[in-house]
Amino acid sequence: MSVPALVQTLASLIRINSVNSAYGGPGEREIATWIRAFFEQRNIEVREQEVFPGRPNIIARLPGRDPTRRVILEAHMDTVTAQRMSIPPFEPRVEDDKMFGRGSCDTKAGLAAMMHAVASLREEGIEPPCDVWLAAVVDEEFSFRGVVKLCEGLTADAALVAEPTDLRAVIASKGVLRWRIVSRGKAAHSGKPHLGVNAINHMARVVLALEEDHQRLASQPHPLLGPATCNVGIIHGGAQVNFVPDACAIEIDRRLLPGETAATVLAHYQTLLDALKEHHPAMDVTMEPPMLTDEALETPSDSAPAQLASAVLREMGLDPTLRGVPFGSDASKLSRQGIPSLVFGPGSIDQAHGAVEFVDLAQVERAFEFYRRFILH
Ligand SMILES: [Zn+2]
Repeated sequence: MSVPALVQTLASLIRINSVNSAYGGPGEREIATWIRAFFEQRNIEVREQEVFPGRPNIIARLPGRDPTRRVILEAHMDTVTAQRMSIPPFEPRVEDDKMFGRGSCDTKAGLAAMMHAVASLREEGIEPPCDVWLAAVVDEEFSFRGVVKLCEGLTADAALVAEPTDLRAVIASKGVLRWRIVSRGKAAHSGKPHLGVNAINHMARVVLALEEDHQRLASQPHPLLGPATCNVGIIHGGAQVNFVPDACAIEIDRRLLPGETAATVLAHYQTLLDALKEHHPAMDVTMEPPMLTDEALETPSDSAPAQLASAVLREMGLDPTLRGVPFGSDASKLSRQGIPSLVFGPGSIDQAHGAVEFVDLAQVERAFEFYRRFILH
C-alpha cells in the first residue's frame, strides 16, 4: 500500500457528502456504494446489510486461518451537519500535512485506514490469523441504528472502533441519557398572577435541584473517566410576557459512568422530583421517557484485545497507556454484545464536529499501521 493511495481514499470519502439524514443530509447511500466498490475491485468479499431503506451497513470479510475466531474493525460512514463550517466541507484540501473537510477526522480517516489495512493484506496475499470483518456502518452520529443492526446475532473475539482518539487506545467512555422534564402550571393574566400557577418558577426549582445534585456527582469520579455529569441544555416555557406560563420543559443530558443504567439513574431523579413536590404541593412536574440512552464502555484493561493494543502501540513507539474518553461511540454497543471493544483512530476529538475539521495525515498512516498490526497479531 502506498501512502498516496490511503490519502486518495480519504479524499474520495470526504468528497462524498454523507451527512446523517437526521441532520438534513443525503445519508450514507452514495458513500456505501463507493466503499462496496472499493472492496469488490480488490476481490474482497463484501455485502450490504440494510438498516434503513437506502441506508445500508457495508460489511467486508477477509477469511483467516482460524474461521472460528473473528476480529471486527468498525467505523461509521455518516457525519454531522456541514452547516456552520468555515471551510468548504466536501472539497478535501491538504495543507501542512493535514487533510481538511467534513468527516476528515470524524471518522473518515479511521475508516480509510481500516479499509487499506484490510486491502493491503489481500494485496500481499497474507492470510490473517482469524477472520477479519470491516463494518462501515450508518447512523452513528444520531441514533446508533447501524451498529445495533450489526450486533444482531453477532459474535466476535474483539472489535476496534474508529474514532478520533489521537492514536490512543481507549477502553472506557461515558454513556449518555437524555430526557425531558415537563412542568405544568395554570395560565392567568400577568396582572393577577395569584390566579395562575407559574410553571417556569416551578421548573426553576427543579433546575437548581439538579445543579445541587451535580455537585454530588463531582465527588465520585471514575479513575479513567472522571465524574458523571448532568447538564440542562434546553429550556422552553411561556407563551407571552404578560401571561402566567402554564408550561415549561427542560432537556437534560446526563453522562453515565460504567455500571450506571438508565433505569437506576432515572429512578434517582424521580426521587429528587418527589422530594421537591413534597415541599411544593402545587408543583406538577413529570419526567418523560428517555429520548436517548447509551451505556458506558468499560473493557477490562487485562482483556486480550486491550493488552494486544497496548503491546502494538509500544512496538510502534506510541503511547501504550489505556485511556478513557468523555465521548460515546459504537464501541459500547459492541461491548454490550459481549465483544471486548476498543476505540482507536487518528485525529483529535477537538476537531470533530467543528467549524474547521482536519486530520493529521501522519496520524492516518500510523493508524493504518496499527490496524494492520493488530489484525496480524
Ligand atoms: Zn465519530
